[in-house]
Amino acid sequence: MSGPGAVSNELFDRACQVIPGGVNSPVRAYRAVGGKPFFVKNAKGAVITDEDGQNYIDFVNSWGPLILGHAHPELIEVIQQAVSRGTSYGAPCRAGVELAETIVDWYPGIDQVRCVSSGTEAVMSAIRLARGCTGRDLILKFSGCYHGHADHLLVAAGSGLITFGEPSSAGVPEAFASLTHVLPLDDEEKVEEFFAEVGDRVAAVVIEPMPANNGLLLQRQSFLQKLRDITQQYGALLIFDEVISGFRIAKGGAAERFGITPDLVTFGKVIGGGMPVGAFGGPREHMKNLAPEGKVYQAGTLSGNPVAMAAGLATLRILEREDVWTKFESLGQHLEKLMTPVLAKATLPLSLVRLGSVFWLSLQEGEPPRTAEGIDPSAAERYRPLFHLVKDRGYSIAPSAYEVGFLSLAHETKHIEGLSEAFSEALQDGPG
Ligand SMILES: *Cc1c(COP(=O)(O)O)cnc(C)c1O
Repeated sequence: MSGPGAVSNELFDRACQVIPGGVNSPVRAYRAVGGKPFFVKNAKGAVITDEDGQNYIDFVNSWGPLILGHAHPELIEVIQQAVSRGTSYGAPCRAGVELAETIVDWYPGIDQVRCVSSGTEAVMSAIRLARGCTGRDLILKFSGCYHGHADHLLVAAGSGLITFGEPSSAGVPEAFASLTHVLPLDDEEKVEEFFAEVGDRVAAVVIEPMPANNGLLLQRQSFLQKLRDITQQYGALLIFDEVISGFRIAKGGAAERFGITPDLVTFGKVIGGGMPVGAFGGPREHMKNLAPEGKVYQAGTLSGNPVAMAAGLATLRILEREDVWTKFESLGQHLEKLMTPVLAKATLPLSLVRLGSVFWLSLQEGEPPRTAEGIDPSAAERYRPLFHLVKDRGYSIAPSAYEVGFLSLAHETKHIEGLSEAFSEALQDGPG
């Protein structure tokens, strides 16, 4: 493994003095793969350039937001114009209305959205709203799904089916965790048993309809349908956390893709075009409970920030104009076609899991897992050397075996071919 260049190295040492772990979000620190991260100087299109002048073709894309690639010229122009009109008003603006109109128009079953500044905030607020709408406290989530870092969502499964969840982070009170239950994905029976026991106390079931934060755990449509049916039966709300999948896997997100309409939905990443934005939405019947109309409090000094709203709106308009969903499908198919023989030749067990522009390497025997429990923990060991060998060839992939890769509008066939070539060489040289 070759480390980062001298400039990145020095910056990281300085960062470690003044920022915990040297980073502002843990996965950036390379703890899962070893070594030190490169520091980014600039990025353009598919290419990210570090402080030492090293270029990488980027498949991380800021972990999802950069669906147009880095510094898309049209988006940058819109952002620059927006900035020149002021960076924040603390009062409503046109772009906020137009972004909300577009989201409501595109996503099935929602009449209203409220914008916030991150995905975490979006899910946290949607859950408060669900509790306010139902007058109930319990939340059901699934292991392997990530919903941001609000206290009541940093919860791992307890030991038994109906036992309470346990904090998955220090600093989360047991009392908060006890209101969240965690079940494995892909298991209708457990969901049924759970609802039979406490269903009338459940405010909401929250799920990533395309779980993409712990590998890519593609769910059966029938499992999602089960959640739709059972929440309806018990008067609980179904929340689709589409912070990754929203506007990425279809114009109407996973809801459109799977033909299932949730009660509330959360967005983030793509809708900010790289600016800090999140949003949550639903039918008026639920959204009217939010302040100032209703009694569920929710607010934000920088919510609906004019620059972020303009960036989000421009991103969605470009996605539609370019019909990216069709483009991504063919680019994704191309990636699959090139990678499949490369991975099949390796002595490691390897397969590519993909939905649209989202892909993940499953490093274990057999069918790709559909549950977090089904992921072989030793897969992460096998990923480490592979990550460095691919990165050393100029391809930036996620520095963790559990994170997915993203295609962007800036990726061309040659980038896909280069990536599969890099894997081919890495697997010959390295751990294969
Ligand atoms: C990234 C993510 C979040 C949290 O969003 P932040 O903007 O990082 O706070 C929530 N849910 C899902 C599904 C995500 O992928």
